[in-house]
Amino acid sequence: MEERKYTDLHTHTTFSDGTFTPEELIIKAKEIKLAAVAITDHDTVDGIPDALSAGEKHGLRVIPGIEIATHYTDKKETEIHIVGLFIDHKNEKLSSLLKGIIESRESRNLIMVKKLNELGFNISYDELKSVAGGKVISRAHYARLLVEKGYVHDMHDAFSKYIGDGKKAFVKRSLLKPEDAIKAITDAGGVAILAHPTLYDMNFRQVKKMAAEFMEYGLKGIEIMYSTYTYEQEHEVTRIANDLGLLYSGGSDFHGANKKGIHLGVGKGSLRIPYEFVEKIEEASKKGH
Ligand code: AMP
Ligand code: MN
Ligand code: MN
Ligand code: MN
Repeated sequence: MEERKYTDLHTHTTFSDGTFTPEELIIKAKEIKLAAVAITDHDTVDGIPDALSAGEKHGLRVIPGIEIATHYTDKKETEIHIVGLFIDHKNEKLSSLLKGIIESRESRNLIMVKKLNELGFNISYDELKSVAGGKVISRAHYARLLVEKGYVHDMHDAFSKYIGDGKKAFVKRSLLKPEDAIKAITDAGGVAILAHPTLYDMNFRQVKKMAAEFMEYGLKGIEIMYSTYTYEQEHEVTRIANDLGLLYSGGSDFHGANKKGIHLGVGKGSLRIPYEFVEKIEEASKKGH
């Protein structure tokens, strides 16, 4: 009997706020026998070339991806994440869009560092940059630095006390509109996927309404499998996918040591994402162009 093949379509490397380099991640994916893995760093495609060459070297299929945060305004404003798969990471429009996002992160970072300094924490922008390594400095890096300097016990502590949404040192960053992220991904040959819909402050009815709206801009899929889903949540999101005709996607949202307890491919242990998802999504990426 042929062995079942699995994938992971949502992962982060050191190029954003993961702790595995692309090659380390690919080696790990190979070790756990995934048949393909997507690299979906926040706001950057800079890790993709390394990931693709590591994929060739170690004999693993690598799917170029991205994760972009957006602001969705309905009755209130909610941060909604869009994953792009099978993108052309050399697409110029996408690159210039991402450049703008990185610049807005920079201006936010200067304010956040100042706020933390005012709270009495001796941290500098240069230290943050060295923790982050790459161009994307996210709150995960602030959390690590605060832990390293002994100001908080762990990353969770950092978020719940200082840098979580609405906390003292939190600074909102300006985000794209969902339609702009979806269109940029689609224009770059990619397939736009609604990420982890259970993580928003919305019920399933609201998620469905939003997803239907996003389909008008080109949304093609939704994460029906995700590390933190309960059995019931997986069932509900799958139902939304079926009702709307959205493709199935799924991933662990692996961040290495920056998300404790979430493992590549298997999430908290029981996640298994069928390789068939890759084939359907790839087909859709070819249809569009
Ligand atoms: P940013 O994009 O800079 O606003 O930072 C968001 C990142 O911080 C996410 O991608 C997660 O990796 C991380 N993050 C957000 N909330 C938490 C939390 N409560 N605990 C740990 N990490 C978090
Ligand atoms: Mn992250
Ligand atoms: Mn996300
Ligand atoms: Mn993610």
